Amino acid sequence: MTELKPLDLPAPDADAYLAWIADFSSADMETARAGVAALKENPPATAEETLTAWNDIEVALSNTIARCELFSEVHPDSGVREAAEQASLAARQLSTEFGLDPDLYAVFVGLDHHTLDSESTRLLEKILRSFRRSGVAADEATRGRIKDLRDRLTVLGQTFARTIREGTRSLRVRPEQLAGLPQDWIDAHPADDDGLVTVTTDYPDAIPFRTFAHDAEARRALLVEQLTIGYPDNVDVLRELFTLRAELAGLLGYDNWPDFDAEVKMIKTGAAIPEFIDRIAAAALEPAQRDVGVLLERLREDRPDADRVEASDASYYAEVHRREKLDVDAQLVRTYFDFAKVRAGLLDVTGRLFGLTYTPRDDLPVWHPSVTAYDVARSDDGETVGRIYLDLHPREGKFKHAAQFTLTNGVRGVQLPEGTLVCNFPTGLMEHDNVTTLFHEFGHLVHHLVGGHQRWNEFSGVATEWDFVEAPSQMLEEWAWDADVLASFATDAAGSPIPPDLVARMRRADDFGKGYFARTQMFYAALSYYLHLENPTDLVERTRELQERYSLFPYVEGTCMPTSFGHLDGYGSGYYTYMWSLVIAKDMFSAFDRNNLFDREVADRYRDRVLVPGGTKDAADLVRDFLGRDYSFDAYAAWLAE
Ligand SMILES: [Zn+2]
Repeated sequence: MTELKPLDLPAPDADAYLAWIADFSSADMETARAGVAALKENPPATAEETLTAWNDIEVALSNTIARCELFSEVHPDSGVREAAEQASLAARQLSTEFGLDPDLYAVFVGLDHHTLDSESTRLLEKILRSFRRSGVAADEATRGRIKDLRDRLTVLGQTFARTIREGTRSLRVRPEQLAGLPQDWIDAHPADDDGLVTVTTDYPDAIPFRTFAHDAEARRALLVEQLTIGYPDNVDVLRELFTLRAELAGLLGYDNWPDFDAEVKMIKTGAAIPEFIDRIAAAALEPAQRDVGVLLERLREDRPDADRVEASDASYYAEVHRREKLDVDAQLVRTYFDFAKVRAGLLDVTGRLFGLTYTPRDDLPVWHPSVTAYDVARSDDGETVGRIYLDLHPREGKFKHAAQFTLTNGVRGVQLPEGTLVCNFPTGLMEHDNVTTLFHEFGHLVHHLVGGHQRWNEFSGVATEWDFVEAPSQMLEEWAWDADVLASFATDAAGSPIPPDLVARMRRADDFGKGYFARTQMFYAALSYYLHLENPTDLVERTRELQERYSLFPYVEGTCMPTSFGHLDGYGSGYYTYMWSLVIAKDMFSAFDRNNLFDREVADRYRDRVLVPGGTKDAADLVRDFLGRDYSFDAYAAWLAE
């Protein structure tokens, strides 16, 4: 057997990428079309061979879709981003066409599953379910309508994301309005010819500004800019998206989109989503009110007539409280988190925990000079695991949030898993929040890699129920809170490691606000659920109502948060997922010894029973295999109350 090689990326220039995208996407589409034609005209003799042929088709289509979705979000050239969007659209259209093809469906219905092993039987069940959920059983006219709906939904999702990506806003302030910000941040933001400083809505600008700037009006003005990204352009896009999803769910035999969407998740039904939201909201209410009361008290020292804490004051006064009462100065904390050291520390820590070795590949072509590449191998036997790319700093036209993007799904004997982290961190000193985000996203990347050695593409990597997918990442954040772990890489300019008592105070300070944070998360979860369920005519008004119901901070006049809430496309009605996963993450973490987070036995058991299997088992079974019992709400409830 020949050893598998990672993908060769082209030279970074636009022409090379345009040619490359055109080449691989047309080749993949041809492979998929020819494969389907062969399956229908000349089906293989056995069920196993049929699944293998189908796997080749899925590999081809998913390669084009994954690569195009990545480069539509990260390539520096807008022409390349556009070409990638077009190619991904074409591949998704072909995939929709296959899902609606009754003759192709008949090939799978006719298979004799008795000859298959349990993993292949699971695959066949997933394939049949996927055809049913695609609408293959509908009459011809309905199938035509379903195809139109799906094609249009892909375009709407792309438009929604592009509007956000290209919708960075900014504020121009007088230099004295920077008072309170760290000196290195001020130095990096000189005044222009008019004597004004530009502050953008990109994270490395907006987060420090909203946390540290003393000027309340300026903080509020920046938050308004952030919460109007995509407004009003994305209002019509969202309304059409919700309308078409509702119609599609109806044609497929479901009462509404959340029911259709939840069927393939751990939560199972749409109606269980608001129940879960309200359960968390109730558990979080008391700690949330207590902490907001603390913020209000401190706010009144500055503004005696204040009767509520505004959203634009929350981060600022939480930081004031942590500094004055909990003895944690975020500006001191960030002197320990220099980006280059943090990146090195992340690789060291995750390498130890998961038994992986990362070899830098500075010789490989990358799409932007700030991107770094690494080959990943198992530390024990040197076996190749895959390749990763880290694209961690903001630039114009790039994806604005933090996420793991697949470059290649790993399929045993066919191709190695490769993935990319796309984030927006500063190049110098980072907030500790950035560090936990980096660990979080890297958790997805590790899952994609170590779970990416499956026989079937369908089960590769993070191919688990979508409301479990955050749990491994949320659990990995805990390592960015451990004093010993942090001391191994977090050193100040003089090389002194972060003191353990500072980390202990940081942890106490982080506990402050977890109740109102959970309530804000439930506001977002409620938006994602109710907007899909109701498609309200007045998006702003419904946002205001849900914010008043769930969040402890009032709606900000003149804003429309959903138009920049990118997850409304990808997560649909399922943003509750983050909290659902957090409940399981807290439970899984309870198996680790807080005094020895690298215990080999627990770490290996976790990697091998939760991550390595990818989607070959239901998430509830993976967690039971690791914990030796069913998952429960207890660890999360205890953490919230503690
Ligand atoms: Zn995540």
